Amino acid sequence: MRKQNLAASKGREMYRLRLFAIRHSRAFEWIYRRVEQTLVAMDPLFARIGYERVERPVALVEKAVKTVLFDCKMCGQCVLSSTGMSCPMNCPKQLRNGPCGGVRPGAYCEVKPEMKCVWALAWDGASRMKNGSQITEVLPPVERNLEGSSSWLRVSREKAVHLREAREARRTTIAMAFSGARKVEPSTAPLVEEPEAAHRDVTIDPPAGAKADVKGDKT
Ligand code: SF4
Repeated sequence: MRKQNLAASKGREMYRLRLFAIRHSRAFEWIYRRVEQTLVAMDPLFARIGYERVERPVALVEKAVKTVLFDCKMCGQCVLSSTGMSCPMNCPKQLRNGPCGGVRPGAYCEVKPEMKCVWALAWDGASRMKNGSQITEVLPPVERNLEGSSSWLRVSREKAVHLREAREARRTTIAMAFSGARKVEPSTAPLVEEPEAAHRDVTIDPPAGAKADVKGDKT
């Protein structure tokens, strides 16, 4: 009985924190962007260490932070920025693209009437966000094989690859646009004529000590 009470009180606390995150979805959206930028900037370091080695520690940090704030289930394909910071994995039916048809009056869940529908909260959170319109985009189904992996790391790694490819494409475009520049590169450019003084014989006296040494050698 005591265990059940503890579990219920923990559940209520987590639900309160979820509501807090949704109320402050705009601030969390900003934080999320900064975290992503930091991880993208760390791509060269992660690549050197090996992504498979950093996966576990990053996943542990991600789990710790997101479990507290969003009651995260570590699905591995985080969509919080598209769902107003309301985690769709908390929907008892785990629906990823909007509510089912059983939402109760007052936007309460059909399966768990003590909580608000995850999707009703998602619309509320999205309405406070800068890029809240992302909620209208259709999300792909959950890939179960990614469960437990770090979503932060996967997304930032994909972004880093995308940025690298875009940089390479830009360089190639510039190189092709200025292909004539190769004809006047330094190795093929004519040499500047040398001044006349450079052709005169110049006698350089050796230092005094050096003369003495030479004499000494003769005797
Ligand atoms: S969408 Fe997935 S990764 Fe994001 S908070 Fe929910 S369970 Fe966690």
